[in-house]
Amino acid sequence: MTAGGCGIREFVMANQVEPNKWYFTVDCSKCGEDIPFAEAPSPEEESEPQFRTVKLQCPHCGAEDIYAPALMTRRQGPESK
Ligand SMILES: [Zn+2]
Repeated sequence: MTAGGCGIREFVMANQVEPNKWYFTVDCSKCGEDIPFAEAPSPEEESEPQFRTVKLQCPHCGAEDIYAPALMTRRQGPESK
Protein backbone atom coordinates (compact mmCIF):
# COMPACT_ATOMS: atom_id res chain seq x y z
CA MET A 1 0.00 0.00 0.00
CA THR A 2 1.77 3.09 -1.19
CA ALA A 3 0.00 6.37 -1.69
CA GLY A 4 0.56 8.39 -4.82
CA GLY A 5 2.81 5.72 -6.27
CA CYS A 6 1.86 6.22 -9.87
CA GLY A 7 1.82 9.98 -9.94
CA ILE A 8 -1.85 10.79 -9.99
CA ARG A 9 -2.21 14.52 -9.84
CA GLU A 10 -5.52 15.98 -8.89
CA PHE A 11 -6.86 18.47 -11.30
CA VAL A 12 -9.99 18.93 -13.29
CA MET A 13 -9.26 19.20 -16.96
CA ALA A 14 -12.47 18.63 -18.82
CA ASN A 15 -11.70 21.37 -21.30
CA GLN A 16 -8.19 20.17 -21.97
CA VAL A 17 -8.72 16.54 -22.80
CA GLU A 18 -6.64 15.57 -25.78
CA PRO A 19 -7.41 12.75 -28.18
CA ASN A 20 -5.41 9.57 -27.74
CA LYS A 21 -4.21 10.44 -24.27
CA TRP A 22 -5.41 8.48 -21.29
CA TYR A 23 -7.21 9.97 -18.35
CA PHE A 24 -8.62 8.85 -15.08
CA THR A 25 -12.25 9.85 -14.87
CA VAL A 26 -15.25 9.47 -12.63
CA ASP A 27 -18.90 9.93 -13.40
CA CYS A 28 -20.38 12.94 -11.62
CA SER A 29 -22.62 11.82 -8.78
CA LYS A 30 -25.12 14.50 -9.69
CA CYS A 31 -25.26 14.96 -13.47
CA GLY A 32 -23.47 11.78 -14.54
CA GLU A 33 -21.02 13.52 -16.87
CA ASP A 34 -17.41 12.42 -17.13
CA ILE A 35 -14.97 14.26 -14.90
CA PRO A 36 -11.44 13.68 -16.17
CA PHE A 37 -9.23 14.53 -13.20
CA ALA A 38 -5.75 13.28 -14.00
CA GLU A 39 -3.57 12.08 -16.81
CA ALA A 40 -3.20 8.33 -16.82
CA PRO A 41 -0.57 5.97 -18.11
CA SER A 42 -1.72 3.79 -20.98
CA PRO A 43 -2.80 0.23 -20.21
CA GLU A 44 0.48 -0.97 -21.73
CA GLU A 45 2.49 1.19 -19.36
CA GLU A 46 0.50 0.48 -16.22
CA SER A 47 -1.99 -2.35 -16.27
CA GLU A 48 -3.30 -1.78 -12.77
CA PRO A 49 -2.94 1.81 -11.67
CA GLN A 50 -3.46 2.67 -8.05
CA PHE A 51 -6.27 5.00 -7.16
CA ARG A 52 -6.98 6.88 -4.03
CA THR A 53 -10.01 8.76 -2.85
CA VAL A 54 -10.17 12.29 -4.22
CA LYS A 55 -12.47 15.24 -3.78
CA LEU A 56 -13.54 16.73 -7.09
CA GLN A 57 -15.75 19.48 -8.34
CA CYS A 58 -17.72 18.69 -11.46
CA PRO A 59 -16.89 21.14 -14.26
CA HIS A 60 -20.32 20.56 -15.79
CA CYS A 61 -22.71 21.16 -12.90
CA GLY A 62 -20.40 22.39 -10.13
CA ALA A 63 -21.28 19.62 -7.69
CA GLU A 64 -18.51 18.75 -5.26
CA ASP A 65 -18.19 15.21 -4.06
CA ILE A 66 -15.71 12.69 -2.79
CA TYR A 67 -15.00 9.82 -5.13
CA ALA A 68 -13.68 6.46 -3.99
CA PRO A 69 -11.22 4.48 -6.08
CA ALA A 70 -13.93 1.98 -7.03
CA LEU A 71 -15.70 4.68 -9.02
CA MET A 72 -12.72 5.59 -11.15
CA THR A 73 -12.09 4.38 -14.65
CA ARG A 74 -9.42 4.96 -17.23
CA ARG A 75 -10.58 6.34 -20.53
CA GLN A 76 -8.92 7.55 -23.66
CA GLY A 77 -9.51 11.09 -24.83
CA PRO A 78 -12.27 11.29 -27.42
CA GLU A 79 -11.28 11.34 -31.06
CA SER A 80 -14.53 13.00 -31.98
CA LYS A 81 -17.67 13.43 -30.01
ZN1 LIG B 1 -21.92 17.17 -12.60
